[in-house]
Amino acid sequence: MQLVFASNNKNKIQEIQSILNGSIQLLSLEEIGCQEEIPETADTIEGNAILKANYVTEKYGYDCFADDTGLEVQALNGEPGVYSARYAGEQRNSDDNMNKLLDGLSDKEDRSAQFKTVIALNIKGEQHLFTGIAKGDIVLEKTGDHGFGYDPIFKPENYDETFAELSSDIKNKISHRAKATKQLIDFLNTTK
Ligand code: IMP
Repeated sequence: MQLVFASNNKNKIQEIQSILNGSIQLLSLEEIGCQEEIPETADTIEGNAILKANYVTEKYGYDCFADDTGLEVQALNGEPGVYSARYAGEQRNSDDNMNKLLDGLSDKEDRSAQFKTVIALNIKGEQHLFTGIAKGDIVLEKTGDHGFGYDPIFKPENYDETFAELSSDIKNKISHRAKATKQLIDFLNTTK
């Protein structure tokens, strides 16, 4: 069975391929000739994952899964959420995004937050959603230099270090993306 992962990130694709049972062949967007940018215009994380998966299934006719991730901060009413990549503006980088978030929290006591990954899977005419959540807190200042995005300001619960201080081995065991991906793989490996 062929299944498209709506991504061109070869590392992510290989990692999932190696955990799947041999009956499923994962294809990247490049491999199905999809070169255009897939719209991510929904106003929820779920909505964007669904948009991306549906785009590939409707336009290219493949079974497909797509993921979308955001950081939800309690005291900011769930912001930046679906806007995590461009919180400080389209042309801004991770540093700008983190600065805006730290500024927004400067007068708040509650610093709790969670990363959320949603994977939307279109398979055999059905749609399934898998959600992975990593709970934690936003620290007072950026710490650590591993990882990407908001990792230097997010401290997962039960740990004393931020995602950017923890090794990638540990992050990849406890992260939102790892949890959602595990559910997807368990589902696919038990699907005939
Ligand atoms: P995407 O949906 O995986 O592209 O993630 C959207 C945005 O969320 C990224 O541009 C990052 O800013 C942020 N993000 C996603 N995953 C992580 C993570 O594991 N650590 C830190 N930031 C993340």
